Amino acid sequence: MFSVEDNRKKVERALLVGIQLPSMAPGEGEELLRELTELVENLDIQVMATTLVNLRAPQSRYLVGTGKAEEILAHAREIGADVIVFDEDLSPAQQRNWEAFGEICVIDRQEVILDIFAERAQTREAVLQVGLARMEYSLPRLKRAWTHLSRQRGGGTGARGQGETQLEEDRRLVNQRIAQLRRNLKEVVQQRDVQRRRRLKKPVPTASIVGYTNAGKSSLLNRLTASTVLAEDKLFATLDPTTRQLELPDGQVVLLTDTVGFVRRLPHALVEAFKATLEEVVHADFLIHVLDVTHPEVRHHFETTLSVLRELGADTKRTLTVFNKVDRLEDRSRIEQLRSEHPGALFISALRGEGLDELTARCLDLLAETSLPLELLIPHDRYDIISRLHRSGGIRSQDMLDEGLHLRGVFPAEVAGLVKPYIVKNGRPQEEE
Ligand code: GDP
Ligand code: MG
Repeated sequence: MFSVEDNRKKVERALLVGIQLPSMAPGEGEELLRELTELVENLDIQVMATTLVNLRAPQSRYLVGTGKAEEILAHAREIGADVIVFDEDLSPAQQRNWEAFGEICVIDRQEVILDIFAERAQTREAVLQVGLARMEYSLPRLKRAWTHLSRQRGGGTGARGQGETQLEEDRRLVNQRIAQLRRNLKEVVQQRDVQRRRRLKKPVPTASIVGYTNAGKSSLLNRLTASTVLAEDKLFATLDPTTRQLELPDGQVVLLTDTVGFVRRLPHALVEAFKATLEEVVHADFLIHVLDVTHPEVRHHFETTLSVLRELGADTKRTLTVFNKVDRLEDRSRIEQLRSEHPGALFISALRGEGLDELTARCLDLLAETSLPLELLIPHDRYDIISRLHRSGGIRSQDMLDEGLHLRGVFPAEVAGLVKPYIVKNGRPQEEE
């Protein structure tokens, strides 16, 4: 345990500073600042005021110019803020300069997001990943004067007045802890790979629930699967607890995975750290995109999630768009508006269970689309197609004939174009021989 932990101090009232750089789209700084407001509130820190700085170029000392820095500090004092949050990344040196200059806790967007992820992390893997990302973030910042969360664990920031020896000691401990976390993480990731491979052997369709923080993803997962057994109790022994199985009306089973909230400008360390977790999204047969219909920024949330999906290469996946929390919506005309913008979207309440039958029905439709039952005759020289179909895992039977390979199976929709010339019959495949 760290000696530094005793010196933590919880902050409660924030001044947020957004930055608009010439390289950014008009209005982008403002938009990011609105998002930052939500993120900070998510940490139970009250946002007292926000201010947007038009910056021609980042300055090395305080990010903003000295005059501006004085102005920001005066503003913070005036409104009784005990923390200043910058929307742009601060280097460790800039952060120290600020804290020495203002004698006030100064953090950046990265640290806010790291803290949110730390609070939300549930699985062992997630806890380890966030812990690691956080340690790596704080290592060059050990000299800092303040830290804003008393419940912060392990991040290690030195209290004021601590000597160099203490600092060296902290650094050594943090490095040790980083090495330990890496080892633990490696074990967990190996375990998960084994599980995934086991799952792939028996192809059960999977879906990932994606969406902005607080949209109601976990609530939806819980609600949809409340009456069904936890996946880990059944087929997939030690599966990540955020994956559960959902039984559809026709008895088909889908594995539903909850994902961590999507926010803009995810700290790089976290993108890396969560890559493994987000891989579930990339491998999913389809996505359920959940949005909070009552939120004034719902359109931005939609865009944000889409841009993270784009980064993952998963933005073209089949997606059910689901507007949640209709029970809390006073202005019903909003539904009509959103419906015209998103034809085919569903309006539900995960809390009350409203619209969930329709949702599961739509899942069935999607699965029918994603799995084409086909009978094929593939010429022997099209080994590329044959191996593609093998990889899909859907082959139910095969016979080597003179004219080619005769296959029956259920295949993903994306092979439809590829196999079209070789379809013998369309429809339910016969029972396995
Ligand atoms: P996540 O961050 O997307 O996983 O969101 P959560 O499932 O944790 O939900 C965030 C908050 O919204 C919680 O306080 C939920 O109780 C609430 N919530 C979720 N679904 C609904 C809903 O349908 N109606 C209402 N009124 N609140 C909801
Ligand atoms: Mg959640």
